[in-house]
Amino acid sequence: MIPYDKALELALSCVSKPLPTERVLLLDAIDRVLASDIYANRDFPAFDNSAMDGFAIRAASWDKELRLVGEIAAGEHKEIYLNSDEAIKVFTGGAIPSGADCVVRVEDAVLDGNTLKVLKKPAVGQNIRKKGEELKLGELVLKKGTHLRAYEIGLIAGFGIPVIEVYQKPVVGVLSTGDEILDLGEQITKPTQIRSTNNYALVARLSQIGASTLHFGIFPDIKEQIAKAVELALSRCDVVITTGGVSAGEKDFVKEIIKDLGLELVFHKLLVKPAKPVLLAKGKDKLLFGLPGNPVSCLMALDVLVKPVLLKLSGREDYLPKFEVATLKRAFKRSDAQRREFLRGVCWSDSGKLFCDYSDKTQSHMLSSYIDANCYVIVPEGVSSLEEGQKVEILRF
Ligand code: AMP
Ligand code: MG
Repeated sequence: MIPYDKALELALSCVSKPLPTERVLLLDAIDRVLASDIYANRDFPAFDNSAMDGFAIRAASWDKELRLVGEIAAGEHKEIYLNSDEAIKVFTGGAIPSGADCVVRVEDAVLDGNTLKVLKKPAVGQNIRKKGEELKLGELVLKKGTHLRAYEIGLIAGFGIPVIEVYQKPVVGVLSTGDEILDLGEQITKPTQIRSTNNYALVARLSQIGASTLHFGIFPDIKEQIAKAVELALSRCDVVITTGGVSAGEKDFVKEIIKDLGLELVFHKLLVKPAKPVLLAKGKDKLLFGLPGNPVSCLMALDVLVKPVLLKLSGREDYLPKFEVATLKRAFKRSDAQRREFLRGVCWSDSGKLFCDYSDKTQSHMLSSYIDANCYVIVPEGVSSLEEGQKVEILRF
């Protein structure tokens, strides 16, 4: 059994470079990963403009009677020079005329006919958004490897860029194994049959992680059938995930088929709880993760081990899991202290401090332990009890 840190290192080392890139429309780029740096092709803001509806004046002449000489709306381009005894009405986003050095809010002035009286002394620069104050022409705005969220997409639109280069999404194939497993819609004919949860949860989670998914179905514990299905999946996908059949039982065939498929075993069996039997095998530009059938094992292995690999493959710079430290709300005890345990838990902030609690449903078949959970609470190897108020590591979903 290998420790989690080592397994993660080995798994990540199987990805030597990200997938190739492609060009997509900006609106198709949500949750994709930028594959080339984006530089400012213009100052941001592009010109000095008003942050308020108000009057552009010279700050030094604020206590004089000022003559209103015109107005500038957002988008209006006017060649105006403002003299010291003058004021110009400006709207939010409107260009500041040369000669003016501040904007007085509408509320801070009284207009009587064409005469403006300013009520409060303004500071130079007040309410003016300066050209280039946010981003300068030529400045690096977004680095390659950036995860594109709505915010970054808006920023790119602000530079008028309609098509961008992103990394291809990893194509991940999912297939489940088990004689007892039924798919949605299949008739239950024996009370000992169960519905498959794994393939549905995996496909859903994988699309959240930013992968394209292909679902290859559910296969009985027949070695040849599983081998054929995995072979097909490998031919179509960058990464294949199987669930079930990876432990030490007589009907656990996933490990046995690796050699026949021309794959090399990277590891099998981790010092973690749940998900001990996880297997990783690699071929040329292909990875096969054999995840255990227990629903929690399978999802937890996806979150803590497969996800970082997929993020790295997707070109993300920040592919490593971000562990945080939180204060445990309740003591925890376990009888088997050997492995690193990932409990399902909740974390929350209170008065600037991060707290966490864990689900009492600690076993690997209890998928409902995820209800309301938003993180894993981690119990280190060799530790059999945690105390209330103790600092522990957590990993948010
Ligand atoms: P295995 O890893 O094949 O030994 O399966 C471990 C446990 O997970 C057994 O109780 C299986 O019935 C259950 N299991 C396996 N595959 C699935 C699945 N796709 N959905 C839900 N439970 C499963
Ligand atoms: Mg099985």
